Amino acid sequence: MKLLTHNLLQCIVPACRKHHYPLKVTASLLNVEENPFDAIFASRMLERLEYNILLEAYNSLRQDGQPELPPAVPEDGASNEVFLQSLFFAINCLDVVEGAMTCSSCGRIYPIHNSIPNMIVRAIEGEQPPQSIEKEQEDEEEEESEN
Ligand SMILES: [Zn+2]
Repeated sequence: MKLLTHNLLQCIVPACRKHHYPLKVTASLLNVEENPFDAIFASRMLERLEYNILLEAYNSLRQDGQPELPPAVPEDGASNEVFLQSLFFAINCLDVVEGAMTCSSCGRIYPIHNSIPNMIVRAIEGEQPPQSIEKEQEDEEEEESEN
């Protein structure tokens, strides 16, 4: 899961969605994809993403030698090549292969497996999860959801 995706995801609990609480991401396996830098893509995404959420997530995963993001978007961010390269790395190269996201409000945990976040686990009481999707993963979660 790329941090660009993480930036767009929200807890499925309606009360959490309303306030757009960030999901805290943790990783047990990270990968770096060598995607060619695309300045236009990076500057376009900059307009759409929540920078503070990206910054917190990226800083919690970032390893030595990987680009640093400044604490705030530079004034010339949309045209600052150095900044855009770091941003591009953060949103489109760093990949959480195995890990989890935890809602900072309700504590609900969303697992990430094979780079894919599972947002349908532990459906809200009284609400049926979509049956056709991620059936296998649901089965894996079975023992936890028995409580
Ligand atoms: Zn929540």
